[in-house]
Amino acid sequence: MPAGGGPRSRRAFRRAERHLVGGVDSPVRSFRAVGGTPVFFARGRGPYLWDVDGRRYVDLVGSWGAAILGHAPPAVVLAVRATAGRGLSFGAPSVLEHELAERIRSAVPTVDRLRFVSSGTEAVMSAVRVARGFTGRARVVKFAGGYHGHSDGLLARAGSGVATAAIADSAGVPPSVVADTVVLPYNDLAAARRRFEEIGPTIAAVVVEPVAANMNLVPPAPGFLRGIGRLAADAGALVIADEVITGFRLRRGAVHPEYGLRADLVTFGKVIGGGMPVGAYGGRGEVMETVAPLGPVYQAGTLAGNPVSMAAGAATLDALTPSLYRRLERTSRDLAAAWTERAVAAGVPDFHLARVGSLLGVVFGPGSPRTYDDAVAVDRLRYARFFHALLREGVYLPPSPLETTFVSAATGPAAVDAVVRAVARAFRGMGRGA
Ligand SMILES: *Cc1c(COP(=O)(O)O)cnc(C)c1O
Repeated sequence: MPAGGGPRSRRAFRRAERHLVGGVDSPVRSFRAVGGTPVFFARGRGPYLWDVDGRRYVDLVGSWGAAILGHAPPAVVLAVRATAGRGLSFGAPSVLEHELAERIRSAVPTVDRLRFVSSGTEAVMSAVRVARGFTGRARVVKFAGGYHGHSDGLLARAGSGVATAAIADSAGVPPSVVADTVVLPYNDLAAARRRFEEIGPTIAAVVVEPVAANMNLVPPAPGFLRGIGRLAADAGALVIADEVITGFRLRRGAVHPEYGLRADLVTFGKVIGGGMPVGAYGGRGEVMETVAPLGPVYQAGTLAGNPVSMAAGAATLDALTPSLYRRLERTSRDLAAAWTERAVAAGVPDFHLARVGSLLGVVFGPGSPRTYDDAVAVDRLRYARFFHALLREGVYLPPSPLETTFVSAATGPAAVDAVVRAVARAFRGMGRGA
């Protein structure tokens, strides 16, 4: 299997391994799923990243979707610099928090109140606590392949790095902690209906990614989300729409209403922090009023609502205009079309490219997955070969076949051409039947 990073990256990785667990701070950054050693990056600008060996890549990871404007967008960098110069953290209120909250609320009318935290994990973990506190019930329904951060109770049949590492449940999570987590198959309304008939009145919340983007890319089947929303409402359970990836990426605001899903709570992260650590959860007033200091559900954070994160988020949301979303959609559509065309031209069998807006699902296998079982059955070896072929051509894909590929708004015609040329060469190199 090819090396991955160049000589400086390899040296950096050997040093990192002496100090950091596995040389990385998040497992999916390691190249375990594709082989070789990770690329170490020195800087980014627009659609490009440069590694420590001076090689340039078109970045199709974009910090797992956070970098929707590309790298180091000038307006965001300016806001971060100005804010940092006035103090990095107060541990007390600043106007930047409600200024970002106003932007989010004006785009998501169903959110009456919200709370900022420092990561998507915290956002979903807190939303689950609120749902349990509000309903007085314990059980939480999630879907196989849905990733909702690494809080204990949600690490059952989770996608993303958990799936890549092939651990269905993490060690260190006692059975008692996941005893109240009910895992159902995604896109299977009949299975959900049966389970709700059995245990409906004990369910506090259903947590769902409106578009599953942590088991490669799995769009919701027609009617699935609407049906889930109905089941939850009939059972008196809350719906938590986990929009940490989809929020402000597929449109300005939340995407779940477009699929007919009514959510009581919504979680955000990634894009709303513009590359700085951030998460947020919010929802109906009567539900959010159970959170301290107004109510009995405790949730706090030393760095929550951090001024630099808030400023980066506000500057990012200000750049997300209707014309930017239109451009991002066009770029993503054109890239996906050209990519598919090159696969057909090269006679590559069993290649599929799914797309929802600027989210792409790159799959070698019998078809684009509809469930977690489909997603884990993809041809991982062929993905790894394709990943390394593209890496050599200067395109950085997610280093795992179970992740989504992200297009940024900074991806202009030159970057699109570079990707399409790289894809064509990679497919030719893989040959017929590859
Ligand atoms: C990334 C992600 C999370 C976790 O966010 P972190 O900031 O990594 O803690 C939660 N839910 C979804 C859908 C995500 O994609």
